Amino acid sequence: MNRVYNFSAGPSTLPEEVLKQAADEMLDYKGCGMSVMEMSHRSKVYEEIIHNAEASLRKLMGIPENYKVLFLQGGASLQFAMVPLNLMRKSKRADYVNTGEWAKKAIKEAKRYGEVRVVGSSEEETYNHIPSLNPADFDKEADYFHITSNNTIFGTKFKNLPDTGDVPLVADMSSDILSCPVDVTKYGLIYAGAQKNMGPAGLTVVIVREDLVGHAPDTTPTMLNYKTHADAGSMFNTPPTFAVYIAGMVFDWVLAKGGLVEMEKINVRKANLLYDYLDQSKLFKGTVVKEDRSIMNIPFVTPSAELDAKFIKEAEAQGFVNLKGHRIVGGMRASIYNAMPVEGVEKLVALMKDFEARNA
Ligand SMILES: *Cc1c(COP(=O)(O)O)cnc(C)c1O
Repeated sequence: MNRVYNFSAGPSTLPEEVLKQAADEMLDYKGCGMSVMEMSHRSKVYEEIIHNAEASLRKLMGIPENYKVLFLQGGASLQFAMVPLNLMRKSKRADYVNTGEWAKKAIKEAKRYGEVRVVGSSEEETYNHIPSLNPADFDKEADYFHITSNNTIFGTKFKNLPDTGDVPLVADMSSDILSCPVDVTKYGLIYAGAQKNMGPAGLTVVIVREDLVGHAPDTTPTMLNYKTHADAGSMFNTPPTFAVYIAGMVFDWVLAKGGLVEMEKINVRKANLLYDYLDQSKLFKGTVVKEDRSIMNIPFVTPSAELDAKFIKEAEAQGFVNLKGHRIVGGMRASIYNAMPVEGVEKLVALMKDFEARNA
């Protein structure tokens, strides 16, 4: 067996311990004589799996009692619609910050349901920073205020949350959930596709304050109403059972590592290994402003597309895969989620140094 260092932005690398445990339990989950994939979601055994997953996530993020945790499907992309459908109820207006492709898609979708104001954008500078925001510009009557906490494609992250007062803050945390501690009480709603930092694709986690649930209009499809899933404990219909099982193990893996405080320390260490090298390299350069750098997704370039391609090819041959940047940014992108070991980043930097020595 030969595991590569996988820098994919998503679906992405998972902890080896979790994969091994899943493999051990594949044919016979704890004496049931079947895999988790094959069991009824209504069985006692499965109920325990989903309850434990929720309990572990609550513990990990310190999610208060008055927040629901929903295990849904449809990806973060479906939340682009579910958020306005469920939350645009009084003024039918919302404020959005345009910090990247995902934010842009969220904005486009929300516009189908109500009035959307973009209160900040870094689009003209190809999203190389988080725009500064002035709370005086915020709509006090907005039904919510939406941010993308970490911009997967461009590699920027909100380091300071906008002060939205009584307007609920909604965050797409797909690519930085569980990377560092968050104060859940600062948010009305958090959503994230699992396939970046939590588990396999097919599961979307929504954490929503109770008072925001139950106000969707009657025309809302049953499956798109948060209340349906909140009332049914994410069991209105068949949940993505196997993805929840794996995510539950990932939550326990992060807890065993010391939780989000420890996770953040390791993530900062990994990110700084790469940023410190980029800052002094004569060949490789980071593409975003220092203050807004992500600790999860790190884009970088050489002076030419030819050298970019050469580096990506050499890296791949040595077992460092999925380093090609998003087509909009070009160059390279190293996604270094929780499950990427420090050693993987150390070796990547060594590889880059060697490449620089031969190509500068
Ligand atoms: C990947 C990603 C999405 C899209 O997620 P899907 O699960 O594919 O719908 C949305 N937002 C962010 C920030 C992402 O990283």
